[in-house]
Amino acid sequence: MKSAGWFPPFFSIYIHVPFCQNLCDFCHFYREKPREVEAFLDALAREIDSISGKISAPVRSVYVGGGTPSVLPARFYESLFKHLDEAFFMDGVLESSIEVVPETGTDELVRLSEAGFERVSIGIKSFNPDSLAALGARREEETAEGSVEAARNAGFTSVGIDLVYAFSGQTEGSFIDDIQTALLLDPDHISLYSLVQSDDSGPREIDQDTAAAMFTESRRILVARGYRQYEICNFAKPDHECLHNINYWRDGDFIGLGPSAHSAVTAEGTRSRWRNAADLAAYMAGPGSVKEELSVEGPEIRPAEALMLALRQTEGVDIDHFILGYGKDPRMIMGPSLKRFRELGLIRTSAKRIRLTTRGMLLSNEVFGAII
Ligand code: SF4
Repeated sequence: MKSAGWFPPFFSIYIHVPFCQNLCDFCHFYREKPREVEAFLDALAREIDSISGKISAPVRSVYVGGGTPSVLPARFYESLFKHLDEAFFMDGVLESSIEVVPETGTDELVRLSEAGFERVSIGIKSFNPDSLAALGARREEETAEGSVEAARNAGFTSVGIDLVYAFSGQTEGSFIDDIQTALLLDPDHISLYSLVQSDDSGPREIDQDTAAAMFTESRRILVARGYRQYEICNFAKPDHECLHNINYWRDGDFIGLGPSAHSAVTAEGTRSRWRNAADLAAYMAGPGSVKEELSVEGPEIRPAEALMLALRQTEGVDIDHFILGYGKDPRMIMGPSLKRFRELGLIRTSAKRIRLTTRGMLLSNEVFGAII
């Protein structure tokens, strides 16, 4: 089974299901109300077929996100795993995860677990009806409180929840209440996402000082309760870290299937990134054929990208290991900003490691901007 210790980057598959029953105002992901579900399932199978045989690396993790993957019938996932088995080397898969909404019924959870997922992430967002209303998210409050137990009873061996914070209409007190309610449910994994405002139509971000206070206090509570923060937004009990996401931060390659899904594949030291068009109709007409090239990162850019990703992890960057992998000293990549960020209390360094401080996590975009 999985291990939370160090592991080398591996190859993974992400599948994007672009359907949600409720379209939350704050959400940036590509999603639509469910329509032509059977045609979508067929298109996804055709996309898998189209790359079958082109990937020789063994797959180590599968993550189905969205959107709301639990909108699709569980029977689809039973056939999906068979399909993936035929197309890829799946014998060494360490982790299979799916995102669900708290409303997902017990029978459906059982079928998803039996289909092959052992890890589930429940998109709770908040337990507080006022906070949900401020986010433009709709849900029956009670379903969230029973969702962790329902997922466990259904057979999932690792159950995580997501919470959102730092948006207008939410107080610091109500967010800490969310954390305390989450702890009563005893999930294995907790993700805390601060709101990122993209336009003026949805909820607004709150001021940085209040957001920082929310993050610092929630982190203190979670760590005191035995959750290890392993990345800026993610906390887990021992051995419940999400390997799929850790692989992103360790610069592993991945293929994304479904509309808007991103891919990153390395060949001869050059990393190509692309994403499928965020357009359901175009996807169903030619799955995976309408793509946007995002970047081609040669040896001169790869180390900076890898450094930025690695710094998201609380363990930071092992300097010697990084030099071995990328041929560049991360201290050189950061140049004079390393000293500046150290003096500002955003970065801590030792002879062996560079890592973000708690304050650095709060201002990580500033640090990453300087690296890139
Ligand atoms: S937050 Fe989740 S449920 Fe809401 S629209 Fe986005 S993906 Fe769908």
